[in-house]
Amino acid sequence: MAAIVEPFWKRKTLAELNQEEWESLCDGCGLCCLQKLEDEADNGIYYTNVACQLLDLDTARCSNYPERQTIVPDCIQLTPGHADAYRWLPTTCAYRLVSEGKDLLYWHHLVCGNADAVHTEKISRLGRMVSELEVAPEDWEEHLIFRTG
Ligand code: SF4
Repeated sequence: MAAIVEPFWKRKTLAELNQEEWESLCDGCGLCCLQKLEDEADNGIYYTNVACQLLDLDTARCSNYPERQTIVPDCIQLTPGHADAYRWLPTTCAYRLVSEGKDLLYWHHLVCGNADAVHTEKISRLGRMVSELEVAPEDWEEHLIFRTG
């Protein structure tokens, strides 16, 4: 009888993933590329539907991944860390889920085999975002969509 091998995200910590596993974990939602506001009163991170200038609004993918940190210096490069380091990410984010010892969700491409499911299940904001080039920062508060933290 063949042994059942758990998928890599259940067997390994984030720090143990190889490069290919690390990259494949991203579900492609693009939510981390939305502008956020922090409420110092409750430490909440409030996501808006205002996208980074580099986010392709038609695919929810970065339009210039190799040069993103040159063009957008405050773009955060995710690295393996403890769960606390991922609290600013949406609760659906695969890196956050794995860091918290949780399984990936049913619509994740590594689970269902369909990279579009993140969009058809409306986890991403595909078709429901505006570029930061169109909205002044003082108006971002009018674009809040959810709280995390
Ligand atoms: S929120 Fe997480 S899963 Fe979604 S695009 Fe960002 S890093 Fe990838």
